[in-house]
Amino acid sequence: MDLAYTAEEEAFREGLRSWLKAALPSLPPRPDPADWPARRAYDTAWQRRLYDAGYGAVHWDAPPAQRLIFLEETERAGAPYVGANFVGLLHAGPTVAAEGTPAQRDRWLQPILRGDEVWCQGFSEPGAGSDLASLRTRAVRDGDAYVVTGHKIWTSHAEVADWCELLVRTDPDAPRHRGITWLALPMDAPGVTVRPLRTLAGTAEFAEVFLDEVRVPAEFRVGAENDGWRVTLVTLSYERGTAFAGEVVACRRVLGEVARLARGNGRWDDTALRRRLGRLHAEFGALWRLVQWNVSEAQASRGAPGVGGSVFKLRYSHARQELYDAAAEVLGADALDADREWVADRLSSLAYTIAAGTSQIQRNIVAERILGLPKGR
Ligand SMILES: Cc1cc2nc3c(=O)[nH]c(=O)nc-3n(C[C@H](O)[C@H](O)[C@H](O)COP(=O)(O)OP(=O)(O)OC[C@H]3O[C@@H](n4cnc5c(N)ncnc54)[C@H](O)[C@@H]3O)c2cc1C
Repeated sequence: MDLAYTAEEEAFREGLRSWLKAALPSLPPRPDPADWPARRAYDTAWQRRLYDAGYGAVHWDAPPAQRLIFLEETERAGAPYVGANFVGLLHAGPTVAAEGTPAQRDRWLQPILRGDEVWCQGFSEPGAGSDLASLRTRAVRDGDAYVVTGHKIWTSHAEVADWCELLVRTDPDAPRHRGITWLALPMDAPGVTVRPLRTLAGTAEFAEVFLDEVRVPAEFRVGAENDGWRVTLVTLSYERGTAFAGEVVACRRVLGEVARLARGNGRWDDTALRRRLGRLHAEFGALWRLVQWNVSEAQASRGAPGVGGSVFKLRYSHARQELYDAAAEVLGADALDADREWVADRLSSLAYTIAAGTSQIQRNIVAERILGLPKGR
């Protein structure tokens, strides 16, 4: 694989760079991170501007190199990232694009790209996180609709979402992985109750979602009834393989900043610390190569990057935590200054080895599906 960008790709970079230079000065100030309605408004407005400028679909339809350049350039320019649009743009939308009918693609994709509609993910339940296939939220077919009853948890951005990629059990008698169905749930349907959960960082990042006999039209089912596990693997593969790609670019920037601070405050003289930063530099460089690989795989297979996403997710989430540990060491007492972004970023780094599947689960996948080792049980 040739990892160098062509002249044409560099021309795309130049065009994007000048568009960003013109667009960014007129951006309003970023909202309070705890204010999700304001964050939704801000993030969707930015998505709309990207859409109007022809960059709305860059995460899906653009050639891999353009997607990567987009991530590099938006981060370099300090542009907002997907935020409230995360699920829709980075894994629900791509799943609908890969698995939906033409009518479903027409219904859902443009509103995501225009920033008109925000999605959340209703996979986890109180008894079904790592062991997702043990989910119990029931959906019973009644005429042209499913009647859904159950309880979801850790649903990020549920408070401000219009749609939810929802996993339900449609056949309780089938083997666990075979009785699951993937539905698009309208969050304003009668019977949906959202109860926000406060996190360690003090914001209500995610919520519990209670579903009480919610009617979901059968036409909102993506994939066949009881074939939802296969569709889910597509979603998870995008979520683990490419959705965090932009954050690798951000981590590389943060690492550069940490090194600069260390040079300024004398910590750079500590050989062990310098080695740590050097190792992280190599790690994030390798992760960026892995991003390039995963994005190309997704493109080549008209779909998801496959189990390679688990390798990325595993290494990335640990590297991110190590980065913020190193930053805390360099910053000393300043790392505890609650007014600075470092505190929030360090706290949120802790979530990455859990969200989108814990590290233990990624290791199981790597062991069983890549290395071919025997299953634990
Ligand atoms: C910031 C954040 C955002 C999230 N957003 C969403 C969202 O939008 N939508 C959504 O559906 N979910 C979301 N989640 C939930 C997330 O996917 C789950 O927390 C995760 O899958 C783990 O499930 P659990 O919390 O039930 O832990 P459990 O599955 O109960 O696991 C507990 C511990 O046991 C370990 N363990 C369990 N089974 C095994 C095994 N077979 N082998 C080895 N170890 C094992 C786990 O690794 C973990 O350490 C989010 C989580 C976080 C932290």
